[in-house]
Amino acid sequence: MSSKSLPILPGATLGILGGGQLGRMFTLAARTMGYKVMVLDPDAASPAGQMADVYVQADYTDPAALKKLGDNCAAITTEFENVPAASLIELARHCRVSPGADAVAIAQDRSHEKTWLADNGFATAPFALINSEADLDAALTRIGTPALLKVSRFGYDGKGQTRIGSLDEAHAAFREFDAQPCVLEGFVKLECEVSVVLARDDAGRCELFPIAENRHDNGILDVSIVPARVSDTLAQQAREIARSVAGKLNYVGVMAVEFFITEDGLLINEVAPRPHNSGHYTLDACVTDQFEQQVRVLCGLPLGDARLLSPVVMLNILGDRWNTNGPHWDTLLAHPNIKLHLYGKQTARPGRKMGHCTVLDADLDAALQLAEQMRNAL
Ligand code: AMP
Repeated sequence: MSSKSLPILPGATLGILGGGQLGRMFTLAARTMGYKVMVLDPDAASPAGQMADVYVQADYTDPAALKKLGDNCAAITTEFENVPAASLIELARHCRVSPGADAVAIAQDRSHEKTWLADNGFATAPFALINSEADLDAALTRIGTPALLKVSRFGYDGKGQTRIGSLDEAHAAFREFDAQPCVLEGFVKLECEVSVVLARDDAGRCELFPIAENRHDNGILDVSIVPARVSDTLAQQAREIARSVAGKLNYVGVMAVEFFITEDGLLINEVAPRPHNSGHYTLDACVTDQFEQQVRVLCGLPLGDARLLSPVVMLNILGDRWNTNGPHWDTLLAHPNIKLHLYGKQTARPGRKMGHCTVLDADLDAALQLAEQMRNAL
């Protein structure tokens, strides 16, 4: 599709590959703005499928399903990085696709991502590519212990990664991962983790959301605190690095850059070619949220104002909270400054992201305290 047919206006049909919670929130944003949404996901009961105008339940490589999307959608986006890049290329023959397959292909593979970041002069934790057991010895000698062995593809939320204390452990972990390509990463001492979610349009204009300070539990995001409690200098550096990553990727869409803050400064942990869990706070606390922004970029509309309206803490609600009593929604909903978002997932499992809530308070410490109180009370 040429840029002449932009902007795509309400009434048009938008497509999304992936039916998880990010797809659900995209679908809600698009429908709120008057677009129709077609969701493609292999799962019979996906969070986004429940909200879609049309739900295509099929594999991401299914030619008939891709044709249906391509024939009916004015533009197509994705909610997760593991969509086959070939499907995006195929769809791009029929309609506008953002983000592009090139950027997704880099971000969906840790080995490519780390190599791309290093080649483009971005600082990361020390790493080595591991393609066979023979690579482990030299890699561990160079990187030292403790280290982390991470699978290159399909890892998420701390899954597909193991802490390594010795060469024997590295061999055992590599075998445990079925000798798939991996990245061995030095375990860095974290002072804090932050992320920047941004949108970049076809003309290279960028709108950055305020920086989130992220705390993880067991490799899974627990809370995001916004604005991040870091120095203005660090915040500015993170913004500039994120902007530069998006520029060098020639990225069009919403993306997130996750950073480690160490005593040596900022290191990039990961790049996500989509809205991000650490950007969920924007739904309640910004003039424009990350999903509306995704709709805007996809449709070639001007980017929305990403300004923060209130300090906010986002708390993830994991399946661990589902027990015989169920989560205590009444406790949470009794607070007038808490907003609840549930994703419509049928089955709760430990570690599964079932929803999130945001606590809005002019006093950020008070918001954090209440979020932590809610985590324990649920
Ligand atoms: P990842 O899935 O790679 O983003 O890792 C999940 C979480 O594990 C990160 O947000 C960090 O809290 C922690 N982590 C990952 N890699 C490292 C590292 N190289 N050094 C220290 N902590 C790490």
